[in-house]
Amino acid sequence: MKVQEHEPLSAHTTLRLGGTARYFVSVTSIEELREALTFAQEHAAPLCVLGGGSNVLFSDAGWTGLVVQIALQGTEYIEDSKGDARVTVAAGRMWDELVAETVSQGLWGMENLSGIPGTVGATPVQNVGAYGVEVADIIDWVEVLDLTTHALHILSLSECAFGYRDSVFKHSEGKKYIVTRVAFRLSTHPKPIVSYRDLAAFFADRTEVGVQEVRDAVLSIRAAKFPDLAVVGTAGSFFKNPIISKRQYDAIAHTFGAVPSYPVDAQRVKIPLAWVLEACGWKGKRIGHMGCWDAQPLVLVHYGEGTATELILFADQIRHDVAARARIDIEPEVRIVG
Ligand SMILES: Cc1cc2nc3c(=O)[nH]c(=O)nc-3n(C[C@H](O)[C@H](O)[C@H](O)COP(=O)(O)OP(=O)(O)OC[C@H]3O[C@@H](n4cnc5c(N)ncnc54)[C@H](O)[C@@H]3O)c2cc1C
Repeated sequence: MKVQEHEPLSAHTTLRLGGTARYFVSVTSIEELREALTFAQEHAAPLCVLGGGSNVLFSDAGWTGLVVQIALQGTEYIEDSKGDARVTVAAGRMWDELVAETVSQGLWGMENLSGIPGTVGATPVQNVGAYGVEVADIIDWVEVLDLTTHALHILSLSECAFGYRDSVFKHSEGKKYIVTRVAFRLSTHPKPIVSYRDLAAFFADRTEVGVQEVRDAVLSIRAAKFPDLAVVGTAGSFFKNPIISKRQYDAIAHTFGAVPSYPVDAQRVKIPLAWVLEACGWKGKRIGHMGCWDAQPLVLVHYGEGTATELILFADQIRHDVAARARIDIEPEVRIVG
């Protein structure tokens, strides 16, 4: 295990912002992970777990403790008698590489989640989702290492307490866990989910489509919406789509017109924040080194040479504007650290 000191965190995050980590280590085995935890205890260094850095914003002060980057590797396929497959994957594998591999084998389940950056281990943390599918829909179990005992445990789907961009791992009872492996249930039987607006339009309401076709469609829709990570820094959608009461919805619709909405339960709906941001004039707006992407205003971008503080201030301006004009409290989807 090689511990680096004063490592720039901008090099490990897709926003390319943030200060340095006092200590930084990339672990490729469970033994190395346990060693890293012991190192943190011995140095009284607070721990921060990192995957691909595509959903975190480190402050300019950086991290005063140890950043552990999970780089565990390994994938195992098990077929059941009906021809379906369970795939068990180590947390450090890049998510989209796994999606490409399962799709190329004709396995259904991950195709709508194509093109999401980051690692497998981070997918249950925020229950990643896109185009009508959440990773919770295909997870069988999650293996975790308990920070207090250093022992491995298997968590069932219900123990993961998945919600919209939410799971036990984001709450106090789950913060003691590091995800080490995830098991997914995939199917050889065609199960296209193409009713989500953009996909339905892409296939012109055709429902008999192949799994590779769905992946290709998702990738092409995403390419038109998201910026190229090689050109600008971003962590994707910076805020969550708000879930609001039907009364609140009526008030917003009264001010802004027919805002699209998706039912959550009998009392609440989810609305696309991008729509509200566009109505408030944020789409394509740039202030200094930060901006709202013109093809998808929910995506905040760093054009280079900026600071984390600037991005936090830019996001605050948006939050206050939406609170004042639409009376909605919006929450970041990105984890702000330090
Ligand atoms: C261009 C772009 C598009 C995106 N599109 C989507 C999208 O469509 N849908 C969506 O849901 N998200 C999307 N995201 C957000 C992001 O890609 C996902 O949240 C992804 O799962 C983060 O993975 P990561 O490995 O980069 O996690 P990181 O950013 O490294 O970490 C994210 C959080 O998870 C924790 N974490 C990471 N690994 C582990 C682990 N092994 N155990 C415990 N905790 C861990 C970290 O401590 C941190 O709190 C997008 C991001 C970008 C940049």
